[in-house]
Amino acid sequence: MTDASATAPDYPMVALLALQGVDTEIHQLLHRRGNLPEAQEFEAASAEQRALQAERATVVAERDLVAERQAELEERIAKQSTRLHELERQMKAAQNVAPRDLEAMDHELHQVAEFRSTLEDDELLLLEELEPLDAALAEFDERATALEEQVASIRVRGSEAVAAIDAALVERRAERDRLANDVPGALLGQYEAIRKQHGAVGAARLRGDRCDGCSLSLSAVERDRVLAMGLDEVSTCEHCGRILIRDRQLS
Ligand SMILES: [Zn+2]
Repeated sequence: MTDASATAPDYPMVALLALQGVDTEIHQLLHRRGNLPEAQEFEAASAEQRALQAERATVVAERDLVAERQAELEERIAKQSTRLHELERQMKAAQNVAPRDLEAMDHELHQVAEFRSTLEDDELLLLEELEPLDAALAEFDERATALEEQVASIRVRGSEAVAAIDAALVERRAERDRLANDVPGALLGQYEAIRKQHGAVGAARLRGDRCDGCSLSLSAVERDRVLAMGLDEVSTCEHCGRILIRDRQLS
């Protein structure tokens, strides 16, 4: 920290303005870091992933029901097949069986075969129902893979952006420390106190009668009073309280 009395009257404001410039850059960098487009992209892609998973779960549930019906049908088909083979074996082995009984067995054999055929037709219909569901699931998986790749790429871009901002912040903060050493302690303290209230901007140029910090014009009386102040005196905006840097303090 340099003592104000040991510095030329115009010097502190030049340093303060430079400090404000770097602080504004740091503020912008932090803002960018907290509002990365990649963060929004990531949110959007994650929401899409969740929606996709929900849609997929609905199709899986639907497919499970059809598959369950198919399993039941197969069980019934298997039972009919067993019965059919049994009848065939019985008929083959039949000796000294009354024609009427043979006829009855043959009749049942045809009935069972017909019933099995009907069940097999039903199963074919179920397989047709499964086809579009399986196709939909394959499509979901394809989209999920594409989304995963998208999310991975967003992560990489986000990390790169953060790393670049962090590197710039390190550099700007070092510059800030250097500049802060050139601002007298009392002025620096006042500047920091104002920044606590107003965020990034603690000191602003006075352009004509307008404060660059809040964009409001000083009253004619106030403007005259500020302009008449000594170069080493610190003036503040009557509206926002920021330190006003007059042109004459910079030349
Ligand atoms: Zn102001």
